[in-house]
Amino acid sequence: RGPDPGIELVRKRMESVKYKILILSGKGGVGKSTFTSLLARGLAAADSDRNVAILDIDICGPSVPRVMGVLGEQVHQSGSGWSPVYVEDNLSVMSIGFLLSSPDDAIIWRGPKKNGMIRQFLSEVDWGVLDYLVIDTPPGTSDEHLSAAQYLLSAGLTGAIILTTPHEVALLDVRKEIDFCRKVNIPLLGVVENMAAFVCPKCKTETAIFPANTGGATKMAEELGVPFLGSLPLDSRLARSCDEGTNFLIDVPDSPMTVAFNKLLTDV
Ligand code: ADP
Repeated sequence: RGPDPGIELVRKRMESVKYKILILSGKGGVGKSTFTSLLARGLAAADSDRNVAILDIDICGPSVPRVMGVLGEQVHQSGSGWSPVYVEDNLSVMSIGFLLSSPDDAIIWRGPKKNGMIRQFLSEVDWGVLDYLVIDTPPGTSDEHLSAAQYLLSAGLTGAIILTTPHEVALLDVRKEIDFCRKVNIPLLGVVENMAAFVCPKCKTETAIFPANTGGATKMAEELGVPFLGSLPLDSRLARSCDEGTNFLIDVPDSPMTVAFNKLLTDV
């Protein structure tokens, strides 16, 4: 068999995308889709001339449509590919979720079919010219990651951001994730710690959620030579906002979460 023709198709499509960023996590439920949506919304809001998009390749559990408030939308085929769904003029979304007949459809696909879907997502979506493409992936390291890495590494992948909580088990899995990135040559942009502390909205007292592991993510990043990008607190209003698909950064501008996130965005 010759080389996969998809590699060239992806490379061509990605020529009009400046930064291509994978969002990874060792475990599910650590806030990867939440962070993906905050990052895309934050990048788009910071400059209206900037074009940002999210690609959701979490084939078995696509949650981006809900978090971005576009659940139930459909994508259309145009002459130059699939048209993504627009959340703002400069912010678009493409997700496997748009192709399922019901959000509860369970997808049980084998590797080759997933690979084909990811190739289509990376080569056939008509994003136009983009500054940032933020790619939400399933937890762990699976077929989806290998496919995405295989295609994107030939197309100028910027790198990966790894999400974790300070929980010991999550931190252990981050090590595996970093190891995977190094093995397949994915540049590591850094580690983000989520749900590190809870700031009481009434009395403003800060409580560590995993006190035994406070500072664990920073230490681990340092030890493994990966940049530590920042720490985000737990905020029940963010969970509600994700369920409702609203823009938390604009709706709750003074929350510790928004402040921490904006700091992370400017630092990075
Ligand atoms: P993953 O993509 O890693 O599986 P999600 O982004 O879907 O995780 O987040 C899992 C759940 O945790 C969601 O209900 C989300 O709203 C909530 N969540 C994520 N980050 C936070 C946070 N910092 N504060 C409060 N809830 C959060």
